[in-house]
Parts: sequence; C-alpha cells; structure tokens
Amino acid sequence: MEKVEKKCIVCERNEDQIPLVKFDYKQTYFWICPQHIPVIIHNPEQLEGKVSGAENFEAG
Ligand SMILES: [Zn+2]
Repeated sequence: MEKVEKKCIVCERNEDQIPLVKFDYKQTYFWICPQHIPVIIHNPEQLEGKVSGAENFEAG
C-alpha cells in the first residue's frame, strides 16, 4: 500500500488543523476532513487526479 500523506485531499489541511477521516478505497486510502466529505458524495469529479478511481465513486 502506497504512503499517503495525512492531509485532506481537498483543502490539504492536516490533522493539527482539522479532524481527518480516513477512507479506504480499492488498494489505497485517503484522508479527508468532515467539511469536505460532501464533496465525495456530491462532487466526486473534484477528486479526479487526487484519488485514483474517483470518477467511479458514483457507480452503482
Ligand atoms: Zn478539507
């Protein structure tokens, strides 16, 4: 599993600045702050290029 920097993938704030939630996805994982969790739900296209496979979040 590749090393993932512990910071929100959207705003890049780290755990010293804001609580972070870990998301496991496929063979990797990423961190996101509670403020940006809605991005995953409503605007996953914003995560393309940040998380591999983000374009598939809406599948199913
Ligand atoms: Zn954030």
